[in-house]
Amino acid sequence: MKKVMLVFGTRPEAVKMCPLIIELKKIKDIETTVCVTGQHAELLSDAMSDFSVKPDHDLGIMADCRGLFDITEKTMSGVRALISEERPELLVVHGDTTSALSAALAAFYLSVPVAHVEAGLRTGDPLSPFPEEFNRRAIDALASYCFAPTEECVENLLRERGGGKGVYLTGNTVIDAVRIMLGSSGPDFAGLDGYRTITVTAHRRENLGRKMEGMLRAVRRIIENNGDVRAVFPMHPNPAVRAAARRVFDGCPRISLTEPMHTGDFHRLLARSSLIMTDSGGVQEEGAILGVPVIVMRDSTERIKEEKNGDVIVAGTDEDEIYKVASSYLALLSSKARRKMPETTSDSSPSRKIAELIRSAVTCDGKNEKKYTQDIDNLKFM
Ligand code: UDP
Repeated sequence: MKKVMLVFGTRPEAVKMCPLIIELKKIKDIETTVCVTGQHAELLSDAMSDFSVKPDHDLGIMADCRGLFDITEKTMSGVRALISEERPELLVVHGDTTSALSAALAAFYLSVPVAHVEAGLRTGDPLSPFPEEFNRRAIDALASYCFAPTEECVENLLRERGGGKGVYLTGNTVIDAVRIMLGSSGPDFAGLDGYRTITVTAHRRENLGRKMEGMLRAVRRIIENNGDVRAVFPMHPNPAVRAAARRVFDGCPRISLTEPMHTGDFHRLLARSSLIMTDSGGVQEEGAILGVPVIVMRDSTERIKEEKNGDVIVAGTDEDEIYKVASSYLALLSSKARRKMPETTSDSSPSRKIAELIRSAVTCDGKNEKKYTQDIDNLKFM
């Protein structure tokens, strides 16, 4: 039995890795081991339980953890010990966190091949977001298998890796996450009927402080100047985010400040929304999938595909600019038809494609590898 180990630690990673875990567990000749680093302990376990996925190992790195050095050291030593114990054929990481890079580096030093899910995203600025952009590039430099969500990501990888070996265009597993979550049961937010709903999220480290207050003030002005608008803000647990939200929205009508939501509930809320205002990477993709316009409150985004399709607008972090962009978008909304969510079948499921590529990689039968290489050929990337 070939063993595949997945390592991740944050909520957004869990949302995008769980659909892949579900697919890998269906494959009989692979044993799938799930290791969490314990970074976002509560958010992570909520997200995983939404998908009914349980971790096999928890590195618990957040005890006495003070920043990037501790995350790096603790993840590397924890993953090193686990690899020695479990002896996986392949280690799979996702995205751009420091724990993903540290786990990948530990595997690389132990000569265990690494697969990178959501490979090839780039902002073009090596220092922004910091250190995530570097983390992404470094994981792609050492990974044997890069699973790219979009054609732009494939192009970035071909350029940086000097060719297409190990590069696969698979699509984004977030599509599967949204499909699975919208099929789950839970509140349908019918109480929001009759209003235009804005879902708000904000948490990014680089926005904390004055930028965050400005972003939230822009949201408040939108609500106050549009009597038919309600906003829901599931607040990130970070105390700095909560303090800013309570200060800025004090006395504001028609806003609900809530605890973080279970992923299924959150996706149903997004699906009901007229507009999303966020600085999150994952939420902008989910909005784009659901056909809900997204105002991105960030200075740059690595999600070029979403931005290009016109319904994801990078408004920056300046209060007046966000207010202006969001107001004009709200005015447009009533006349704009909503895009439909793209259908995924089990054949087109990105998680299923990645699971088959992984099976092919660890069992070395090469069949699926050929199939997806041909897909890429057809798209003239190789
Ligand atoms: N999310 C959730 N509940 C919430 C808010 C967000 O489950 O109350 C999910 C959301 O669907 C997305 C992910 O959390 O998949 C995004 O996480 P976050 O914004 O923390 O991180 P980022 O995407 O910016 O890395």
